[in-house]
Amino acid sequence: ANFLNTQRLFFNSILEILEFSVVSTHQFDPTTKLVNRRSAYAILAHEKQRMHRVGNASCCIALADIDFFKAFNDQHGHDVGDQVLEHVASVFNSKVRRYDTVARFGGEEFLFVLPDMDIEDAALAIERVRRKLAATPFVSEDVPLNVTASFGVTQLCEHCDINGSLKRVDVALYKAKELGRNKTVCVDSSKLLT
Ligand code: GH3
Ligand code: MG
Ligand code: MG
Repeated sequence: ANFLNTQRLFFNSILEILEFSVVSTHQFDPTTKLVNRRSAYAILAHEKQRMHRVGNASCCIALADIDFFKAFNDQHGHDVGDQVLEHVASVFNSKVRRYDTVARFGGEEFLFVLPDMDIEDAALAIERVRRKLAATPFVSEDVPLNVTASFGVTQLCEHCDINGSLKRVDVALYKAKELGRNKTVCVDSSKLLT
């Protein structure tokens, strides 16, 4: 029993070292200082493995897309647009837990990875993020500018392809846009028929 215990501790240490090296090789987006899309995929793969190892673990994901961002660029210029991206990144980061991830997933799209959260808690957490952004204007040289984003939320599926979960969160985001933007839409995979 003592040998098995030592062996277990040994393997746990190796896993911790591996996890650390995964984290330390992440690539960052220079504009927002967030992890980039490629690193987001690595984090999702890592979370899937963790769910597999720790039975009963859950993880949710959320996708945010800035509302009418093109108009922003057109009216104020690309540089101000970039500053808006930084502003959004810092508001998002200020509202998540230390072990959550906010990634720059695309141009004006941000992916949240929320480990150990069920879908109800994730929806509440993302609603808080959405409201915080809507209530925090971006202050440039002159007038404060209101920035909002739309959000989709769903579970990271343990047994299916990462892209399947990403497709689902994108569907949720699309619905939030359809509902008029500055909204959070949750797609609960446990309530889907397929
Ligand atoms: P919607 O509410 O439907 O999301 O409208 P939208 O205007 O935000 O969406 P659309 O996809 O039409 O436009 C996205 C814009 O995001 C177009 C592109 O110029 C801008 N964008 C993408 N990446 C960057 C970036 O790195 N910097 C800046 N300044 N703009 C970017
Ligand atoms: Mg977009
Ligand atoms: Mg947009």
